[in-house]
Amino acid sequence: MKIVEDVKEMQKLSKDLKRDKTIGFVPTMGFLHEGHLSLARKAKEQNDIVVMSVFVNPLQFAEGEDFDTYPRDRKRDEELAEKAGVDILFFPSEEDMYPEDFQTHVNVEKLTQVLEGASRPLFFKGVTTVVCKLFNIVKPDRAYFGRKDAQQLIVVKKMVEDLNMDVEIVPMPIVREQDGLATSSRNRYLNEEERKSAVCLYKALKKARQMVEKGTLDTKTIIQNMEKIISSYPFTRIDYISINRTDDLKPLKHIETGKTLISLAVFVGKTRLIDNIWM
Ligand code: AMP
Repeated sequence: MKIVEDVKEMQKLSKDLKRDKTIGFVPTMGFLHEGHLSLARKAKEQNDIVVMSVFVNPLQFAEGEDFDTYPRDRKRDEELAEKAGVDILFFPSEEDMYPEDFQTHVNVEKLTQVLEGASRPLFFKGVTTVVCKLFNIVKPDRAYFGRKDAQQLIVVKKMVEDLNMDVEIVPMPIVREQDGLATSSRNRYLNEEERKSAVCLYKALKKARQMVEKGTLDTKTIIQNMEKIISSYPFTRIDYISINRTDDLKPLKHIETGKTLISLAVFVGKTRLIDNIWM
């Protein structure tokens, strides 16, 4: 596995590789876990070369969020990435990505007003800007995004469509711990008691799925039941629970089978966790 830190070097390497090889790309913020690695393995299956980036993107963190404390472990990331079949691990520096006079941003306007965007107004502008930059540097044929960050996946797809970017976005299923908690670098923040409570997101989603399967399609009733489950766990505070259409993220009064995203963000202690199901 080759490690690249310099943006220009990565760009040149990709340009040379593209002459006769396909590139699969997995953008991450590091502190790798099974979720990230499942993306890398799929990329390995579908492409000649796998590039993974590790960059904690300051642009997508607001004042008071966890940019400084976000977990980082470069040695461990290198070992795990190599084992998962990554060919090039790209660690750009903040200075190289955002030089002092940086002033261009990419913004998907409507899809970013709701859900995560409503709670974190600067977040998606930071995400789409960095993903656009990374696509220009790595020049992937395919890029892999987890459904764990459902809205991010939908927003990135829209950016690619609207700006005619020549890359296929491959959505990947959510990887979960044994009890159902979605794997996340931020799970590291949870203490033992909070970790037990963190399963409430999955339990609430499971309840929602069961209700739909038994014929309840009224979203208000489903959300009320989800709230009840979450509130029964200690240390929890609901940020939002929402049921939206997957294409335009419009809130739904009734479940539309095959086109529905049920998503939630919950604080467990000080840690904000997100999860979702598509149905
Ligand atoms: P992050 O490092 O959190 O920015 O995540 C990088 C990529 O990994 C994103 O496309 C995420 O959606 C994806 N990802 C993170 N956690 C999971 C998970 N539990 N299952 C599947 N994909 C995930």
